[in-house]
Amino acid sequence: MPELTRISIVAPCYNEEAVLGTSIPKLIQLLDDFVVHHGCAPSSFAVLVDDGSRDSTWAIISDAVERYPGRIHGIKLSCNAGHQSALLAGLTYVTGCCDAVISIDADLQDDLNALPLMLEEFRAGAEIVLGVKTARDADPLFKKMTAALFYKGMRWLGVDLVENHADCRLMSSKALENLAKFGERVLFLRGLQPLLHGKIKTVSYGISPRLAGESKYPLKKMLALAWNGVTSFSVTPLRVISWLGGGVFFVSFLFSLHAFFSVVQGEALPGWASVTIPLYLLGGAIMLAVGIVGEYVGKIYVEVKGRPRYLIDAVVARDVGGVTENDASLRGGK
Ligand code: UDP
Ligand code: MG
Repeated sequence: MPELTRISIVAPCYNEEAVLGTSIPKLIQLLDDFVVHHGCAPSSFAVLVDDGSRDSTWAIISDAVERYPGRIHGIKLSCNAGHQSALLAGLTYVTGCCDAVISIDADLQDDLNALPLMLEEFRAGAEIVLGVKTARDADPLFKKMTAALFYKGMRWLGVDLVENHADCRLMSSKALENLAKFGERVLFLRGLQPLLHGKIKTVSYGISPRLAGESKYPLKKMLALAWNGVTSFSVTPLRVISWLGGGVFFVSFLFSLHAFFSVVQGEALPGWASVTIPLYLLGGAIMLAVGIVGEYVGKIYVEVKGRPRYLIDAVVARDVGGVTENDASLRGGK
């Protein structure tokens, strides 16, 4: 008999009292469906992470923990740490105790029918399966426009993102273990996926309107997420400053030549060149210098993160006269 897959579902919840009454039974139904029709273990479970809500979210989660013993787990964060951190708290919690985890928003806007397809991809060998929103008809126009701008802007700035993939994804236990090796303080989980090693697949679906309540991602949080994404995964902004500095310096140099020849040909007022030439040259040089310093800051920033230099797929141990090669240098990492 094939081994049953123990699956877990992680959903961050911030002030979600309006949706949880509907979401929790749907999650339980989904778990049942996984067990009955998709070969998942009856010990599969869902984790609801309360991200410092101020409404009755935690009371609802605690109640569900009692009502569905072993099937719903609750985690309460001390304050509103933000969607990414709440999600990471859930992912860390399930690391080592499931075969695969699926993360999903508590409002269940993502199509639940896509989750069994993710499981199929996982069984076919994918370590990570990304949920990609094909139709965003259910989103308000402003959300649709800002989302499009977000993905285009991120790609333009050199962040390797799958367009329209938010945080609905399946990760294998191995991908979770790899994620635990990234010591990032500033989190942008969807940017980390390509670095986690292993086969990545996508599953597409349309989204539904929010079950209830309003979006917990106002423009301010969306901008903060975009800024974290860019500054965590791209040094392009620093490079743009360098290029700008180089350009300004070049133009300044031409202006300086012009000023110099104006003086030589006696076409300039006395004192004009001695003021403008240093102004042009210094302006350009300062921009260039800031750009170069920026390049170094960029390098320091990458180093300070201390990301693993490589991740190992498997370790083959060979016994050579009592010395195994299965040592720290083979395991690698830092
Ligand atoms: N969320 C969270 N902490 C926050 C903001 C949002 O845990 O500070 C959760 C929220 O409860 C939901 C998910 O993140 O489960 C996505 O939020 P939402 O559905 O409001 O975003 P939208 O779909 O409007 O982008
Ligand atoms: Mg939503």
